[in-house]
Amino acid sequence: MKKLKFKKCCLCGNPVYNPKAKYCLRCRNFTYCMKNRRINGKAAQRIKAHVKRHGFVCEYTGVDLDTENRASPYYFEFDHETPGVKRMVRLTCSLVNEMKSDTSWPEFRGNIFALAKCFKTGAKLKRRKLKYWYRLRPPVFYRESKHA
Ligand SMILES: [Zn+2]
Repeated sequence: MKKLKFKKCCLCGNPVYNPKAKYCLRCRNFTYCMKNRRINGKAAQRIKAHVKRHGFVCEYTGVDLDTENRASPYYFEFDHETPGVKRMVRLTCSLVNEMKSDTSWPEFRGNIFALAKCFKTGAKLKRRKLKYWYRLRPPVFYRESKHA
């Protein structure tokens, strides 16, 4: 008996969802999400290369990502490594993205270490200056309308 050959998804290697497709269903949804968030060009290529090489894992922490359940804390999300800079987008999970919030990666790491020290030793948390904290610099239209 002749063995059936399946065309493989170009990202993960699973069978594609139809013979003309490039991706499996999961990777199709994933790339669709990227497109939807206007992540394209080099940023998208870099993320695809990451998925091809390591699978669906967080770029910051290495945790396995959820690609089905949107409510999961480990559902994949795209994070701007430095808030406001569109070129550097990282694949991560909801949990890390929520915790990182409006901070750059070095600021976020610094905060985590400061918190760890605080929890370990009971020392008071020192205030840090957060350059990208959005709530400190609301959009211009908001500031203008408030003072009009
Ligand atoms: Zn796939």
